[in-house]
Amino acid sequence: MALEAAGGAWSRARGNEVLVLRQPDASAPHAEALRGHAWWQSGLHYARRTDADLDFAAQLSVMSRLMLDRLQLDLRKGPPGVMRIPHQGLPLFSLAIQQLGIRSQVRKLNQDEARNMVGPAYRSAPDSTYFEVPDRPFAEADLLAVLRMQARTHDVHLQEVMQPVRLSADPEAPCRCRVEADGLSLRPDALVLAAGCRTPALLEQLGIQRQTHQLVVDRTSLMVVTRSVFPASLVADYAGRWTATQSERGRCVFTMSGVRDEDVDPEAAQQVPGEHARALRDRFEQVTRCPIEGSHRFMSGMEIRKAGASAPSHVRFLVERAPRSYPGVHWVLPGSASLALAAAQLVVAELPRPTRAHGSPSALPGRSWQAPLAMMHSRHDDDAEGPASSAGEEQRL
Ligand SMILES: Cc1cc2nc3c(=O)[nH]c(=O)nc-3n(C[C@H](O)[C@H](O)[C@H](O)COP(=O)(O)OP(=O)(O)OC[C@H]3O[C@@H](n4cnc5c(N)ncnc54)[C@H](O)[C@@H]3O)c2cc1C
Repeated sequence: MALEAAGGAWSRARGNEVLVLRQPDASAPHAEALRGHAWWQSGLHYARRTDADLDFAAQLSVMSRLMLDRLQLDLRKGPPGVMRIPHQGLPLFSLAIQQLGIRSQVRKLNQDEARNMVGPAYRSAPDSTYFEVPDRPFAEADLLAVLRMQARTHDVHLQEVMQPVRLSADPEAPCRCRVEADGLSLRPDALVLAAGCRTPALLEQLGIQRQTHQLVVDRTSLMVVTRSVFPASLVADYAGRWTATQSERGRCVFTMSGVRDEDVDPEAAQQVPGEHARALRDRFEQVTRCPIEGSHRFMSGMEIRKAGASAPSHVRFLVERAPRSYPGVHWVLPGSASLALAAAQLVVAELPRPTRAHGSPSALPGRSWQAPLAMMHSRHDDDAEGPASSAGEEQRL
């Protein structure tokens, strides 16, 4: 997503010829993690531990509002989200509400209201409080569709390639790289890598090794239950250490603390470990107090960060330039979907202005990216409206 936005903005601001390459969803099932889970936009989710978290949350909430305004998207539809805050977390929660400027949008729920919103997961514990919060999931696919349309309006070429793009040193030009895409060889003046969890592997193809780029990938295991479970659209039970997203189309995406692995190989980590799957299923049954029924499946969500910069997520936002060996190569990590446009703007500002006029390319790799955009949890054979399921994407245990 950041990549498309960057392409559009770059094109508009600089008059460059811009080509965006991406793999289709079916062959890159963990791409665009944005569409796999929820979207915490208010900043509250990120403002729960320290003052540093709060600074990041404030930044994220401003960027998120700017992004929605710029794209003219109003996502405040549907049922709101709910948070259950343990009482020791209340002082920071109150401070966060104040600093994020969302006091009027957060409401303490009484017992009946809370029970109605979280259904089977309601707990009448005296040491925690339920709040209605402004965050809610939305059709992330709609947001991508707007970005795609805007990029096209600015004559950005958006292409889907069947094979993963590969990079190598250009033997004919020192300090330049060659991009191999579906049988075509390209020599761009500048290259922006916004390939999510596959960014480290692409850098390594250029000989930029881990000790230089210092990027690592973390994996969160998620469980998708293909029915409605919670009346609220988002539930974050910080006392019970689990979160769930409930989509309009009857998909519940459930995750919990402890089903996360740091520094994984994204290809190997696509398979959710058996112990994570069991833990998720057991916890879900405890939370809802009934055996899991009907179809459910497991999927991995990959997130990328700089090694040594442990969570929280704010230290994952970065735009970097390759060392002297490749001056035209940048990589960008928005760190969170809400910061995608901010990351795109930063990277655009770093790119060199064109030194010569570029005509339209005579041939483009792959095919024009027109495919419908589906939510990740919809992309399964149990969903008649979504595209067909992709091999390896899910496991039924
Ligand atoms: C479980 C989970 C929950 C999250 N929750 C939130 C949240 O609530 N709020 C929030 O703001 N953010 C959230 N995030 C973070 C957010 O999803 C990411 O920050 C965002 O998706 C990253 O965007 P990106 O464009 O950098 O990468 P991606 O979205 O991963 O996109 C990368 C693109 O590059 C393409 N690609 C990769 N390799 C190649 C190749 N070799 N050739 C061609 N194309 C390639 C892929 O096909 C894909 O289209 C969450 C992430 C996870 C995992």
